[in-house]
Amino acid sequence: MDQALLDSIKQRNPYEPEFLQAVEEVLTTIKPALDRFPEYRKLRIPERLAEPERQISFRVTWLDDQGDVQVNRGYRIQMNSAIGPYKGGLRFHPSVNVSVLKFLAFEQIFKNALTGIPMGGAKGGSDFDPKGKSENEIMKFCQAFMSELSRHISHRLDVPAGDIGVGGREIGYLFGAYKKIKNEFTGVFTGKGIGWGGSLLRTEATGYGLIYFAENMLHTRGDSIKGKTCLVSGSGNVAQYAIEKINKMGGKVITASDSSGFIVDEEGIDKQKLEYLKDLKNNRRGRIQEYVQKYPKAVYHTSEASADFNPLWNIKADCAFPCATQNEINEKDANNLVKNGIRLLGEGANMPVSIEGIHILQDNGIMYAPGKASNAGGVGTSGLEMTQNFMGVNWSREEVDKQLQHIMKTIHDTCLAVANEYGKPGNYLVGANIAGFLKVANAMKAQGMV
Ligand code: NDP
Repeated sequence: MDQALLDSIKQRNPYEPEFLQAVEEVLTTIKPALDRFPEYRKLRIPERLAEPERQISFRVTWLDDQGDVQVNRGYRIQMNSAIGPYKGGLRFHPSVNVSVLKFLAFEQIFKNALTGIPMGGAKGGSDFDPKGKSENEIMKFCQAFMSELSRHISHRLDVPAGDIGVGGREIGYLFGAYKKIKNEFTGVFTGKGIGWGGSLLRTEATGYGLIYFAENMLHTRGDSIKGKTCLVSGSGNVAQYAIEKINKMGGKVITASDSSGFIVDEEGIDKQKLEYLKDLKNNRRGRIQEYVQKYPKAVYHTSEASADFNPLWNIKADCAFPCATQNEINEKDANNLVKNGIRLLGEGANMPVSIEGIHILQDNGIMYAPGKASNAGGVGTSGLEMTQNFMGVNWSREEVDKQLQHIMKTIHDTCLAVANEYGKPGNYLVGANIAGFLKVANAMKAQGMV
């Protein structure tokens, strides 16, 4: 790795641990590409990639149901636009800060490049917590947030989407506010509702794409998801549709979680139980704990904030799919997964495994899929939504699914081919980072110093 380069980036961003973790993970893997193409070092492409093209922070003031004034902080990080308009989700969660959004925007550059669709990297959001808020408060907040964000986005410049805490409901309010302010109906958001510009299968795309990716990995060893017991974390958008696809492919999922705890259902979260889970989380906005009241054979475990490992990752299974949030698998968790004989780990969330955890998985021969490759089906399908909006057409579910499967297979094959070419066969992280980096670096070189 270029230690001096990493040190200089650390010095420039001293209080941003998540961002530095994401940068380090990329820098440790792209050295062979920098050695092969020294001009990228000379042009300072890595330093330029690690510096947002534009970073917007703004105040969001809104009135809650009690008539009290609330103040939140909003952000948009427009990280890189070398290969297309800025693209990346919005996250509403109390843990949101510049470091978290810069790590997500940085990851998004490489992920979007891997999809093969022309999209730059961005991310945004707010420290607003949608949990426990009324419908009216959610709408008021979204409108206040958009009153500023609308100045910085457009369907040709920057196209946000959802992420943690921003689902179909929030996108509806945000899109409505943008349309009102700008007096135009354009595809400025993806993840829109079907019937007002959304694409079929966008909701399912990240979770489905993750499992398509895992299936491609298993095929390289003459294996498949069928008959596999799987651990899934989270119970939101990505987790729900990962579970659905695993079930459809003949696997069994025995866990799901939220930020309060997790459930273990040894019989499997089948179709009917998943419908209950979706209703619990998406409509009733309940907690995962309620699952065991409905299905008493399942067991609930509360999260211990002080614990130095997560017992969810200490359960015997074949595959693991972290689909909640960053850094949910540390060194100890990775060791537990190894000890329990896990064969594959596919990241549904962004950066759910620490750098040390990744090394443990890889050193023990576990097939490891980095999120920027394995969860790219979401943004890939967002790209398909943008294309449909530009063309003024709606593709069928089958057509979008066919394209999603194609995108995931192409990313998978690219990761393997590039890893092989750079002397790290089977290392999906090296393949993803170098392939994404080269595509963007090439465009930046061609466009000069801008
Ligand atoms: P959702 O808000 O729909 O669900 C998030 C889930 O993770 C919830 O179950 C939530 O629990 C749990 N969670 C959130 N924060 C924490 C935390 N700090 N500790 C423990 N659990 C937590 O989000 P998504 O499913 O959309 O996103 C999940 C992950 O996937 C994120 O990393 C996101 O960046 C990534 N991703 C999402 C894409 C998409 O298309 N939506 C695309 C690519 C990646 P609770 O209900 O308690 O908050």
